Amino acid sequence: MPLVLIGKIHLQGSARSKLNLALCPYLAGSKISMLTVKTFIFNPLNENTYLVFNEDKECVILDPGCYSKDERKILQDYISEHGLILKYLLNTHCHLDHVLGNKFIHEAYGLILHIHPKEQAVLQYAPLFAANWGLTLDNYEGPLLFLEEGDIIKLGSDELEVLFTPGHAPGHIAFYCRQQGFVIAGDVLFKGSIGRTDLPMGSFETLISSIKNKLFKLPDDTIVYPGHGEYTIIGQEKLHNPYLI
Ligand SMILES: [Zn+2]
Ligand SMILES: [Zn+2]
Repeated sequence: MPLVLIGKIHLQGSARSKLNLALCPYLAGSKISMLTVKTFIFNPLNENTYLVFNEDKECVILDPGCYSKDERKILQDYISEHGLILKYLLNTHCHLDHVLGNKFIHEAYGLILHIHPKEQAVLQYAPLFAANWGLTLDNYEGPLLFLEEGDIIKLGSDELEVLFTPGHAPGHIAFYCRQQGFVIAGDVLFKGSIGRTDLPMGSFETLISSIKNKLFKLPDDTIVYPGHGEYTIIGQEKLHNPYLI
């Protein structure tokens, strides 16, 4: 099985050893539970779509932003080539760039969309943003399942814990894997930057509070997989992020 490249960033210390563990082929078949995080960069807004899967191939898809036919094929090919069994469709928030592939995933894999209840209004606005960007959106109109702070997404013995992180969007959530020390953080915190708050229902004060009281409470070596750009580490952002120091 080929190694899964999960990024180009050079990590140091314990975060680095965690990353190496995730990439280590010698652990295949061992009893150590290990999630793989695979990143795709999709759509004209360069959004990060994530697959997170365990050794039993159970998989969650987060923020499917696949837009073109080619992007959908790349995603589907990866899923079928790795024999992944898609279990959950999750959105950190419902801005256009994060929802472009929701309906496609729903129809192809029969998954129901999970969001925070406060993102329902944002999802309804997505077609309007699509028109502004000159994109066409076949919006998800299937049933919704709602997630709140503290809810757990289970993949076998692995868990993703829901953190409520509003500010960039009113019902923004992040998915924290405590065992493996990473968080799928959407558009809250980026490497050297933070999420914008000038969109409808955004709030700068709320965003800063989410970062300081939720993400910055995680261990310093927690890897942050953001909605755009490279991943980063909580400790590095505490030290170097110009918006937060
Ligand atoms: Zn966003
Ligand atoms: Zn985004």
